[in-house]
Amino acid sequence: RARHGHARYVRYEQGQDEQHQRRLALARDLGTAVEQDQLAMVYQPKIVARSGDVMGFEALMRWNHARFGFVPPDEFIALAEQTGRITQLTQWMLRTVCRQIDLWAQQGERVCVAINLSAQDVMDITLPERIHLLLQDYQLGPEQLRLEVTESALIQDPALAQSNLNALRDAGLHIAVDDYGTGYSSLSQLKRLPVQELKIDKSFILKLDHDSEDRIIVRSTIELAHSLGLSVVAEGVETEASRRLLATMGCDVLQGYLISRPMPSDQIISWLGHYRNG
Ligand code: C2E
Ligand code: CA
Ligand code: CA
Ligand code: CA
Repeated sequence: RARHGHARYVRYEQGQDEQHQRRLALARDLGTAVEQDQLAMVYQPKIVARSGDVMGFEALMRWNHARFGFVPPDEFIALAEQTGRITQLTQWMLRTVCRQIDLWAQQGERVCVAINLSAQDVMDITLPERIHLLLQDYQLGPEQLRLEVTESALIQDPALAQSNLNALRDAGLHIAVDDYGTGYSSLSQLKRLPVQELKIDKSFILKLDHDSEDRIIVRSTIELAHSLGLSVVAEGVETEASRRLLATMGCDVLQGYLISRPMPSDQIISWLGHYRNG
């Protein structure tokens, strides 16, 4: 019994050690991911629930690591935040997305893209100016770039977040509260921030068709958001049943595998063509 316990302990320790080595390697290699061309953006459509029209896309980052292959963004974004690399990744992401919107415009598609900002981006006083310069560089309208900010990022330093987001909102950018329902903020707190949209986290949407509690939460969130003048997006729409439920509940915008998985930029124009032709 004792030996068994010891073996298990050793195995556990090895697992821990591997995890630790991976984290160290990833943290180190994040510094060269941009210059080694290992990062890419993929784009996932959002559709208007009522009409089915394409609203725009969410840009999501991918990292193809030389040794580990694709690293989940939840893992490397968290590491980038902890190691202070996120500002550099965000700057690369912003330029890549703006350049891409411009490329699509040259192909005749006026596309609107939502990007994800982390807490450190939102609290960076240079952010509004950097975004302004990029929009200018690529001659984009402010309505073509939307921002998604998690509720936890918004409440870390509400005053600083608020002044930054006010500047961006005043410049005409649309701002959404991301991962809504997973943090501890209340709608009354969020109401004071310059946000126009609430994005309900997929953890409430994935089992919507067979979880009555999730249905209650989602329905009342939509009602409350609407009464505060916010529009509502549901992410993680995987089934026709959830799509129908959300439409009945008055959800404004839908995003999920049912509509499409995130795609590389070179597939977007043809996806739009196929989607529009039924
Ligand atoms: P998020 O902002 O909540 O993005 C939604 C996540 O749900 C994405 O995961 C997307 O691929 C996934 N998803 C979309 N539809 C479905 C569905 O129907 N079913 C399921 N099961 N999943 C769905 P992804 O791409 O792995 O990104 C994870 C998180 O990483 C994002 O969560 C976001 O917080 C962060 N992230 C991704 N790209 C960036 C970025 O450029 N900057 C920052 N700061 N964070 C990013
Ligand atoms: Ca998001
Ligand atoms: Ca989410
Ligand atoms: Ca998230």
